[in-house]
Amino acid sequence: MKILLNNNDLNEALNNVKNLGFVPTMGSLHKGHISLIKESLRKTNKTIVSIFINHTQFNNKNDFTKYPRNKKKDLSILKRLNVDFVYLPNANDIYDYKRTKKIKLKKKDKILCAKYRTGHFEGVLDVMDRLVNKISPKYVFMGLKDFQQLFLVKNYIEKKYKSRVVPCKTIRNSNKLALSSRNLLLGKSALSKAEKLTQNLINFKKNLSKVKDLKKAIYNQKIKLSKLFNVNIEYLELINEKNLKIANKTKNSKLFIAFYLDKIRLIDNI
Ligand code: AMP
Repeated sequence: MKILLNNNDLNEALNNVKNLGFVPTMGSLHKGHISLIKESLRKTNKTIVSIFINHTQFNNKNDFTKYPRNKKKDLSILKRLNVDFVYLPNANDIYDYKRTKKIKLKKKDKILCAKYRTGHFEGVLDVMDRLVNKISPKYVFMGLKDFQQLFLVKNYIEKKYKSRVVPCKTIRNSNKLALSSRNLLLGKSALSKAEKLTQNLINFKKNLSKVKDLKKAIYNQKIKLSKLFNVNIEYLELINEKNLKIANKTKNSKLFIAFYLDKIRLIDNI
C-alpha cells in the first residue's frame, strides 16, 4: 500500500495506472466505507482511497472541529484490505487552483439537506470535482446512505468527466442503524434511540403503501417520533428516488430523514 501525502506523490503513483477505482472518504472508516472499498477492489485493477476532511462542506464550524479523526486506525484497516493507494492530501493540495465559476445548486435541488445545510453540497461538489480531476478514476464508489450527495455528485461528475459513479448499498449495524462516522460521537442512550427510531421508520415505510393521505401520515409520524424519542427531526419526507422530488406515491420512493441526537446530526433514507 502506497501512502500519497501530496500531489507530487499522487501524480507519480498514478502515472500509467488504468482501470482505477476511487473511494473518497473523510476517514474514521467503518464497515460502510469498507464495503465501498471491497466493491472497488472487485471491480477494478487498482484502488485509491482518499481521506480528506473537507472544511468547505461544513456549514457548522463546531461540526468540523468535532468530526472524528482516526488516521492510525484507518491506515491499518486500509493496509489489511490491501488497497493500492491512500491519498492523504492537505487543504493546499486540494485547493491549489482558483475556480473561475462558482458552483451553484439549481433551485429545484435545494431540498432536504441542501435546504438546511447552506453551502454544504456546493462544498461537496467542489471537492469532488477537484479530486476526480486530479485522480481521473474509471469508477468512483459512493454510498446510497448519502443519497442526495450521490445524486448530485453523479450528475455533476458524469457530465464533466469520463469517470462513472457507482452507487453502493447502505450498510447497517445489527440494530438497523446506518453506519456513520458520526455515530462515534453518540452516547449510549442516543445510539439506542437512533436505532429504535430507525426500526420504527422501517416499519412505517413498510405500511405506507396502504395509506391514503401520505402527506398527513408522514407529518403525523414526524410529530410522533419527535415526542417518542425526544429528538429534533429536521425533515422527514417521501422522495422519488429517480428525480429527487417530493413523491405523492410510494412507488420508487424513499423516506428521507435528518435528525439531531446529542447535538449530532444524523441522516438516513429508507
Ligand atoms: P464519509 O467518510 O462519511 O464522507 O463517506 C464516504 C463514503 O462512504 C460516501 O460515499 C458515503 O456515502 C459512504 N458511506 C458512509 N456510510 C455508509 C454506509 N453506512 N453504508 C454505505 N456507504 C456509506
